[in-house]
Amino acid sequence: MHEFSVASSIVSSVAAEAARRGASRVTDVYLGLGELNFLCMEQLVYAIGIISEHTALEGATVHIENRPARIRCNSCGYEGGAQHEEFGEFHQSIPLLSCPSCGGSTDILEGRECEIVNATMVMEE
Ligand SMILES: [Zn+2]
Repeated sequence: MHEFSVASSIVSSVAAEAARRGASRVTDVYLGLGELNFLCMEQLVYAIGIISEHTALEGATVHIENRPARIRCNSCGYEGGAQHEEFGEFHQSIPLLSCPSCGGSTDILEGRECEIVNATMVMEE
């Protein structure tokens, strides 16, 4: 599952950073998640919870900030947010990659990232 490999790289980089700073525990991890990376947030948080056992991140709260995508059209030069299409009975919304103004194909400028924005660390108690 993709979420587990992402979670494992997040946990190991935050744990390495905590070790470098001499922190004994990490209480909060803040992630920025682009809407086009197609990771399931619940699974990501769940995976981080499992992988962080017995590390400095054990029991840390994961905060996720959703970031809108930015696309650029190859035909008309449109640059900006993607249109969304709702589907299913729960009205989930998926971003569309075709140009909102001419329907042409687009490049993704932003929105695929999954980055660690911040982490709250506790020093030696
Ligand atoms: Zn266009």
